[in-house]
Amino acid sequence: MSSSSPISPHGQQTRVALISVHGDPAVEIGAEEAGGQNVYVRQVGEALARLGWQVDMFTRKANPLQAEQVQHCPGCRTIRLTSGPAEFVSRDEIFDYLPQFVSELLAFQQREGFQYPLVHTNYWLSSWVGMELKNHQPLAQMHTYHSLGAVKYANVPNIPAIATTRLEIEKTCLETADCIVATSPQEEAHMRSHLSSLGNIQIIPCGTDIDRYGAITRTAARQKLRIPQDAKVVFYIGRFDPRKGIETLVRAVAQSQFRADDNLQLIIGGGSRPGGKDGLERDRIEGIVQDLDLANHTQFPGRISNDALPDYYAAADVCVVPSHYEPFGLVTIEAMASRTPVIASDVGGLQFTVLPHETGLLVPPKDVAGFSRAIDQVLADPPLRDQWGQAARKRVETTFSWQGVAQQLGQLYSDHLRQFTP
Ligand code: UDP
Repeated sequence: MSSSSPISPHGQQTRVALISVHGDPAVEIGAEEAGGQNVYVRQVGEALARLGWQVDMFTRKANPLQAEQVQHCPGCRTIRLTSGPAEFVSRDEIFDYLPQFVSELLAFQQREGFQYPLVHTNYWLSSWVGMELKNHQPLAQMHTYHSLGAVKYANVPNIPAIATTRLEIEKTCLETADCIVATSPQEEAHMRSHLSSLGNIQIIPCGTDIDRYGAITRTAARQKLRIPQDAKVVFYIGRFDPRKGIETLVRAVAQSQFRADDNLQLIIGGGSRPGGKDGLERDRIEGIVQDLDLANHTQFPGRISNDALPDYYAAADVCVVPSHYEPFGLVTIEAMASRTPVIASDVGGLQFTVLPHETGLLVPPKDVAGFSRAIDQVLADPPLRDQWGQAARKRVETTFSWQGVAQQLGQLYSDHLRQFTP
């Protein structure tokens, strides 16, 4: 190991690599295919850096104009490697470019004069990179799945050609990585039931910024966004993807008892690129809004920036997460941190974050009437909304702050790094 690698006072290496081939931690969030994984990697990287780690986050270059390196804060940077054409490539098409990603990473280490003793890989594509690197150097591999092929393919009509490869790699990764980080007990249970009984899993949830979310009151947020104080605001934020269940939400709002109320507002936030895949879903959703005669009640503000998002969450009476499946669901804890109750599908990690009748409600996925009743229950009862909102905030403070999550991850890394220090 080169002497340029930082060493903690306890003699332990503190340099680690987070690998996120398709989820660039330095891009703006909300557009096509940029979502929770990008946020997770960036926030984990920055929070670990604040704890004294040297964090390099590797991703593939998806645009010739992108900088090769982005410094986020002292000790945390994004490094973009060439891996196939410097253009957007759908995650189902990236696999063939991964050998180039590995050789670029090896060349980077050689140029810099050190080797990473630990990598934390994200999503199955990066897990392959981590497993491949292990053939070249001593390395501890931590892995977060973000999505499991076996669960995803059970919920989509068209199975892509890459599915068999993905399923094999996800199983091998569970059985061979030094530690798998599951973000909820539900995700761990899915790994065991769908992938393998072998392998080491530890549960460390996703986190959120408890200072940024929850700093503004509902009244002030509505003033800023010019939303009337007596409006009934239902909020969705996220990618436009059929699996996010936005159609269920729109149909549920169309059945609301407040439908005739001029003050009912449905805000559907999230980005799309003209002509992009998510643009098609957005057009489809806009069509349903028109068909159901909801256009007067509905806004599509597009991608909502980091700065504006806390205002939207705080302004809402209720945030709805109607996904068909969600391994964790960052939106849920962002809303909860903002003291806004969440109505979510009764699936995956949403069963972990939302406490029914304490911080919100869980409804079977795609159950339009169920979502409609749940939304109406919160809209009809502001004291209940406030009670659940306060309890939601408390739950996030105790369980889902990035600082707490980074401390747990740092401890996990330290435990595995000991074997690399003399
Ligand atoms: N997001 C955002 N602006 C948008 C849309 C989404 O900042 O316009 C963020 C949102 O705040 C959350 C992430 O994208 O942090 C979505 O993560 P989640 O886990 O809910 O869903 P995923 O995208 O991973 O399916």
